[in-house]
Amino acid sequence: MPPTLAQPMNIVGAGLAGTLLALMLARRGLACNLYERRADPRTAAPEGGRSINLALAARGLRALEHAGVMGHIMPLLIPLRGRLIHDSSGATTLQPYGQRAHEVIYSVGRAALNRVLLEEVTRYSHVALRFRHVCLEAAPAANRLRFQDAASGATFATVLRPTVATDGAGSTVRASLLAQNYLQTREDWLDHDYKELTLPAIDGAHALDPHALHIWPRGGFMLIALPNIDRSFTATLFLARSGTPGFAQLSDGAAVMRFFREQFPDAVTLIPDLVEQFRMHPAGRLGSVHAAPWHVGGEVLLMGDAAHAIVPFHGQGMNAAFEDCVEFDLLFERHRDWQSLFLAFEQRRRVHAEAIAQMALENYTEMRDSVRDVGFLRRNALALELERHFPDRFIPRYSMVSFHPEIPYGEALRRGALQAQILAELDARTAPGDALDLALAGRLIDQRLPACGER
Ligand code: FAD
Repeated sequence: MPPTLAQPMNIVGAGLAGTLLALMLARRGLACNLYERRADPRTAAPEGGRSINLALAARGLRALEHAGVMGHIMPLLIPLRGRLIHDSSGATTLQPYGQRAHEVIYSVGRAALNRVLLEEVTRYSHVALRFRHVCLEAAPAANRLRFQDAASGATFATVLRPTVATDGAGSTVRASLLAQNYLQTREDWLDHDYKELTLPAIDGAHALDPHALHIWPRGGFMLIALPNIDRSFTATLFLARSGTPGFAQLSDGAAVMRFFREQFPDAVTLIPDLVEQFRMHPAGRLGSVHAAPWHVGGEVLLMGDAAHAIVPFHGQGMNAAFEDCVEFDLLFERHRDWQSLFLAFEQRRRVHAEAIAQMALENYTEMRDSVRDVGFLRRNALALELERHFPDRFIPRYSMVSFHPEIPYGEALRRGALQAQILAELDARTAPGDALDLALAGRLIDQRLPACGER
């Protein structure tokens, strides 16, 4: 390791990205101070108000493998084969995510995943974990990083250079750099919020098929549910803040029951304490954060949600944050100093962070609406057929994002647009009931779609 990179590093935020990054760097022998505002989650109850479980896909898996922790993570995972669509009458249809046995995503509990990563980090004595340490400010001009120790109330400062800020979507480090004009940000908040609800186990078993991500798509809004290993499900309602229907209208128990009975009749019976949960659980906001630049010299770098928070509809925020950690770790081998490392990281990742932000937004419409549309379903089936015939050329966009970590997000976005044109053209030229014109498909793909990795 070049001497300048051997300096101890500060990591602010021991969430998903911060712990994984600390683990990767600890394995390289680098000393880290890992600061976290919460209490140690290995001994304290998890905080409420956060997504309880998450979808982990190939990019996240690859990162966990890279960090050598898959053996500890495997027992936490529940494979999901596809989307199970619940229509308004309660009838269900499975839309598989892919067409090969390994093309599944996994439901994983946030708290358990974070705990396992922290446990792994504690095996390295050169990582110092500091819980209940709230970062207050990063000041590059003074080379100072300020904290408050929540236990004593005392504030203290330490040397800023080098710091990686993984303090999440509401990053204090990002806000303090913004206030000092080191960067600019754009925050695009949706006018839809989310609320989580628990579907308890029934007689010790999952109340629904545990190997699917359940969706109740209703056009402008939707309910989804992911399984947990304790056999409960966590459901999330995504709904407009105001308007009809909207969270503002669901202000009393009768309105909540009426809404759920009308919209999600088969789910309502699975949440016995629906009104109580609805009242107690906070509604969370959803948005994308764009910040530029992500780094100030070799002093401080934003990573994960702190740099590029996205809406959760592609299930990729954590996956992208984990991919950040891998990229950083690999770049670490090739750089001599923090400034060039931070710069190279930003140059490499920005285009892909922007691409997944866009695809995540597009997926909201797909999940809450398009999954019910016959044209969408026809084009999806066509995409899978094209993949069977031209597996090295035509890979559905969802699959590129979820199952092909070797295809960067930016390339998935670009190829996805070309593929959408090909699909539209083939769809328009195929009469109902007719077989796909394979010769035409081959020609269009040859003309318009370069091999993966080519421009
Ligand atoms: P976080 O996990 O938010 O960690 C930030 C850490 O910093 C926290 O521990 C926090 O306590 C700490 N911190 C904050 N401020 C300070 C401070 N001032 N001082 C010290 N510490 C601080 N992603 C997926 O890949 N799949 C999904 O299915 C998925 N579903 C989601 C569903 C919802 C409803 C939401 C909101 C998000 C979802 N995401 C999903 C996104 C995912 O949660 C984030 O992308 C991921 O948590 C980012 O990791 P991170 O480490 O950057 O930030």
